[in-house]
Amino acid sequence: MRKNIVAGNWKMNNDLKATRKLVKQIRKSIKKAELDNTRVIVAPTFVNLATAVKRAKKSKLEVAAQNMHQATNGAFTGEISADMLKSVGVKTVILGHSERRAYFGETDAILAEKVDAALSNKLEVIFCFGEELADRKTGKEETVVGSQIEKALFHLEADAYKKIVLAYEPVWAIGTGETASPEQAQDMHAFIRKTLADKYGNEVADSVSILYGGSVKPANAKEIFSKPDVDGGLIGGAALNSKDFYAIVSAF
Ligand code: PEP
Repeated sequence: MRKNIVAGNWKMNNDLKATRKLVKQIRKSIKKAELDNTRVIVAPTFVNLATAVKRAKKSKLEVAAQNMHQATNGAFTGEISADMLKSVGVKTVILGHSERRAYFGETDAILAEKVDAALSNKLEVIFCFGEELADRKTGKEETVVGSQIEKALFHLEADAYKKIVLAYEPVWAIGTGETASPEQAQDMHAFIRKTLADKYGNEVADSVSILYGGSVKPANAKEIFSKPDVDGGLIGGAALNSKDFYAIVSAF
């Protein structure tokens, strides 16, 4: 059975002290929670990953990176490789976030390389994609999302999906306070699952967790997560507050 996942993307927030504090608070809050089928993940900045991994040890909390370079090593100033993430105990990496695509020029082709590099290093990938407002207004959301998935992931063998989590994040709903309605989320998630089923068959499609991201908060999480094809959330703003984040985790 596929897992429910609540993952907090901290973006460029939280220095070392704040990272220690937030990891401690989240670790404590989920200690007694019944999380049989739910994974809880936080993604701090690169410099604080090692600390977060150490502080999350022997708890139910997992730690992911927000990005990764596709090369093994070399002259790529400022970049971080899969090996480096693994060496500090990170097992999951977020790839394809819309902010990486918009501000750092990450294309579907680059993302396909990043996915390959992550998987060949046995890292799990939380792969993000989603349409812009103009795409939705012109009814192109499924075409855009279908193309993002196809270009970055459809070269993979079916087996690779054991290490892939998908995160549908409509760009118009990220950090805007604007949320896709639970029905809009469900419709798109069902489309994504069908896209996977058409290419790889139902078994693969049904095994992949598909997260929704875009202004999820305690007030709307329960309704969004109640939809059959929504397996959790990628959370930005609300992941920076342990009470809000735990309230979202508790929505399952
Ligand atoms: C995100 O950046 O992945 C995100 C969903 O942000 P927010 O929850 O703040 O909209």
